[in-house]
Amino acid sequence: MSGCFLQGFGACRGGLSREHYISESVLRATGANPAAKIGGLAWQPADTIQSIGIGSLQSKILCEGHNSNLSPIDAVAANLFKTLHAIDKDRPSVPSLSTFDGPGFERWLLKVLFGISASGGFQIKAPPDNWKAILMGAPWPESWGMYVFPPDGSEMFSSDLYIETKLNPATKEILAASFRFAGITFNLLLGKPDHPLAFGIHRPRGLIFQHDSEERRVEFLWPFQTEIAITYKCVGTTTSKPSYYGGWKEQ
Ligand SMILES: [Zn+2]
Repeated sequence: MSGCFLQGFGACRGGLSREHYISESVLRATGANPAAKIGGLAWQPADTIQSIGIGSLQSKILCEGHNSNLSPIDAVAANLFKTLHAIDKDRPSVPSLSTFDGPGFERWLLKVLFGISASGGFQIKAPPDNWKAILMGAPWPESWGMYVFPPDGSEMFSSDLYIETKLNPATKEILAASFRFAGITFNLLLGKPDHPLAFGIHRPRGLIFQHDSEERRVEFLWPFQTEIAITYKCVGTTTSKPSYYGGWKEQ
């Protein structure tokens, strides 16, 4: 179906559906209702976190069939963000161990980039076909995929979602993207950089949140062996801005 970005990758079905390109369930899990605090999208003013009505974070980019095929990865991301949000805001409600489908979350990060490309107009080159194949379940090339950046000091928790794309300045292709939420930076690499470790730890098994003597473990399940976990020491809630804002202003 023309207009569906997954046309030719499995069968299209139904009409084009208007949907949130950052899944509505994820936006709600971040506490966004009715507005989300988001920064870094291609069409946003530079260095600004804006409060955006979640109704405007929509575009018609997928048919109903493909949209429903991908709904399981939306659910993985929503559950993960809900858990990360609750670890900060309502820790007693969170079990000591929560497990998530690692490949599903990794593909959700990629799915968001399709929506951002569509909404970014001419500033971003349309995603290539191999991304579409990956979204439909094809293996990722070596070194591509999710990296989690280890904390570099005391991380501050924030429910703002900040998404930054790194473009090739000449071709406007997306090379990588950073997703920051609740003090955690998830990087998605779509190529093989010279120094992949500069983007963090590739597909870690766990994120461990320590608060006094309590611990909450978020574990990613991967179809291969991985043992590395990243530990975050919670410093409690704060009203000051997370350190990653740097010179950012809020609107
Ligand atoms: Zn389709």
